[in-house]
Amino acid sequence: MSFFGIIPPSWQDGAKCAKRNRITGERPNPELWVTSNLKRAPHRQRHAAELCAGCPVIGQCAEDAVRMRAAYVVRAGVALESVEDNEEMRLYEKLDAIAKGHKASQESRSYR
Ligand code: SF4
Repeated sequence: MSFFGIIPPSWQDGAKCAKRNRITGERPNPELWVTSNLKRAPHRQRHAAELCAGCPVIGQCAEDAVRMRAAYVVRAGVALESVEDNEEMRLYEKLDAIAKGHKASQESRSYR
């Protein structure tokens, strides 16, 4: 609990995977972002990218996934399903690149 019970806004507030549908009021099914459920999707990585496409906080999500060493979930459009060291590092590097790219594009927009 924060000072006076006021919870500061966090990057998760803008997450596409947590947003309610404006018409139905329903949230997306969180199971969609669990990699074991992607196994049925023939092009898992593409499907993961589609889930997160257009998410306004994709950079923060990628950064958080690297910091938390997220696993077995889709984060920032990357399906983190491998537990093999080399593959895991490759996926975290991809997330790091997404985070840096997003940060750079936000900075360039703020200079316009
Ligand atoms: S990038 Fe994907 S996993 Fe991350 S907050 Fe957005 S929708 Fe959720």
